[in-house]
Amino acid sequence: MSELRHDPISQRWVIIAPARASRPTDFGGTSSSRPRAPRCPFCPGNEDDTPPPVAVTGPEMQGESPHAPWLVRVVPNKYPAVGPEISARFSAGPRPALPAQGIHEVIVETPLHDRPLTMMSDPEVTAVAMAYRSRVADAASAPFARSVMLFKNHGADAGASLAHPHAQLISLPIVPELLATELRGTAAYHAANGVCPYCAAAAASPDLLVAENELFLAYCPWVSRVPYEVWLQPRRHDPDFAAMTEHEPAALGRLLRDVLIRIGSALQTPAYNYFLHTAPVHGQAHPTYHWHLEILPRLCRFAGFEWGSGFSMNHVPPELAAERLRAVST
Ligand SMILES: [Zn+2]
Ligand SMILES: [Zn+2]
Ligand SMILES: [Zn+2]
Repeated sequence: MSELRHDPISQRWVIIAPARASRPTDFGGTSSSRPRAPRCPFCPGNEDDTPPPVAVTGPEMQGESPHAPWLVRVVPNKYPAVGPEISARFSAGPRPALPAQGIHEVIVETPLHDRPLTMMSDPEVTAVAMAYRSRVADAASAPFARSVMLFKNHGADAGASLAHPHAQLISLPIVPELLATELRGTAAYHAANGVCPYCAAAAASPDLLVAENELFLAYCPWVSRVPYEVWLQPRRHDPDFAAMTEHEPAALGRLLRDVLIRIGSALQTPAYNYFLHTAPVHGQAHPTYHWHLEILPRLCRFAGFEWGSGFSMNHVPPELAAERLRAVST
């Protein structure tokens, strides 16, 4: 089973997950030792290829596929990185480790194999965002959860194994170092300046703005790690993604689609990752934190400098990236 290993020097965690090695892929070719998926396990009719669903949306929200039995389908990952171990005790000593206790789910975002978010209707993107919210809330309610990571790998270069549009959710019994760093930094900035740095960044950076609607903003962060990196955040200050109000999922879905259309149009539909940063659960409150979604187009790879220094070299200034993304007509 999987194990969370900890480095007391860098505070870095690694999940050692041997079960992941045998998962099939659509993108095998000659470079992958993993088996090729015999048929798409996420297409309607193949539901038996996945474990039984933990949540299903539809058929009342039918979107563009009136004959599919569901609109969004959430299943446990068949090749989980984390599992339901119960003896989650941290072993210190020379090899610090913790059983990787958590939930690993796949959110199948549409019954249609060739329908990425960029092609979805308003009801469809709303259903996706509502599924994100309810799955994050559900995962956060497990007593052993400390953090919930929702993420998407789109395209083989972004680490996707299957082409059918889907996102994933992993809950963890720890707070990952990147999130912990953001929490510390946000609290310190707030203490020094009396304002949330995410709210401040959005208000002070019209040249970095990419798109906006009534409830959400999208902008290239000042310290974009990769070309055309974009962050989405609610206008309303809130640390907790699962606390989205009634109208926010629809607005989030629409703005996410808008940004992905801009990225696809400006950059010839690159592979991308996005991931959610939301406050940890079952610990101290983090009122100064501001949840957000980070989108990273995969235009270049981490190379020696990046691995060695832990930070990136970005050849496109975010001011220029934002200008180009703003200029795309959607
Ligand atoms: Zn499919
Ligand atoms: Zn804020
Ligand atoms: Zn973040």
